[in-house]
Amino acid sequence: GAVIGILGGGQLGRMLSVAASRLGFKTYVFDPGTDCPASHVADQHIQANYDDADALKRFADAVDVITYEFENIPTSALDMLEGLRVIRPSREALRISQDRITEKDFLTSLGLKVAPYANVENADDLEAALQVTGTPSILKTRRFGYDGKGQARLQSPEDAAQAWADMAGAPSVLEGFVDFSHEVSVIGARSADGEVACFDPGENVHLDGILHTTTVPATLTASHRMDAVLLTANILNALDYVGVMGVELFVTPQGLIVNEIAPRVHNSGHWTQNGCTVDQFEQHIRAVAGWPLGDGVRHSDVVMENLIGDDMNRVEAIARESNAALHLYGKAEVKAGRKMGHVNRVVPPQPTKIKR
Ligand code: ATP
Ligand code: MG
Ligand code: MG
Repeated sequence: GAVIGILGGGQLGRMLSVAASRLGFKTYVFDPGTDCPASHVADQHIQANYDDADALKRFADAVDVITYEFENIPTSALDMLEGLRVIRPSREALRISQDRITEKDFLTSLGLKVAPYANVENADDLEAALQVTGTPSILKTRRFGYDGKGQARLQSPEDAAQAWADMAGAPSVLEGFVDFSHEVSVIGARSADGEVACFDPGENVHLDGILHTTTVPATLTASHRMDAVLLTANILNALDYVGVMGVELFVTPQGLIVNEIAPRVHNSGHWTQNGCTVDQFEQHIRAVAGWPLGDGVRHSDVVMENLIGDDMNRVEAIARESNAALHLYGKAEVKAGRKMGHVNRVVPPQPTKIKR
């Protein structure tokens, strides 16, 4: 059977491997770690650094198509792989989403709303940027940020010096603080034939900058729900995208504001594993392999809760709950802030009403 190459062997790579294997594919995972979560389930783990040209070539030669589970893959590695195998989603989709400014420029060009933003490369830029965004605002590194890392909040202009110091000289973006009522995300997929299927939007709650829960259905007006799905399709089509993408949105009385996009399966899409016939991981593999997509229809209400660090102490209790599906990542070491697994609590079907 065909072999799917996955760059990155974290939990997303692991769950992609499982989905691929269910469809009869083999997976080869490229990851520098010795004991990464995907290495336990993939058919092969190529353990090497992203600057190891020989290993990259061996990886590319051994697979039929390449995908990835995280967006911060070094550009040099991609440049090399691109000449050897098809990369899905495309290099261009990845390039745009690797840099918060490029991403916001792109979203703006599609007519989508984003928070007011300005580029910051030094302390003077930050003064000027504050004129664009005002306070409160958030300074974020343009690249490599995740789980709220590489961010500093400014309550007032007096916080500027400290915030810039926190960035340690990294090129950054200042964003106006969006006064949202809540956050939702859409997990969308597009096939090689240009077919689009979006999962129902989920409502996301963050704790300390890390996703805590995703609840479906999300609280949304019919119009916002439609808008969320249509704008996601708009983004996918504009990029001629192939694969699954996560689109994070702020809900405000003035409409939906795009926070960020992720060119991969997404933590806020984990509920699909137990809420849909075809989940986001299978959907991504189908797209990458050139297959038709699943329809993405949701059959149950679900609350996904991330199990982070010491939350692992609750696993046994969760295992005793009914209608709770555990997904653990096999990480040996528990660390504060580390995503260890998640649980999907499925709302059971209502008992059949008997008419008398
Ligand atoms: P992820 O792990 O989702 O990639 P990240 O490090 O890229 O996270 P963001 O999604 O940019 O971080 O921000 C994390 C959270 O901080 C958001 O989900 C939201 O709750 C809050 N946040 C970020 N930007 C803004 C903003 N401009 N206005 C209000 N809240 C914001
Ligand atoms: Mg992000
Ligand atoms: Mg985010």
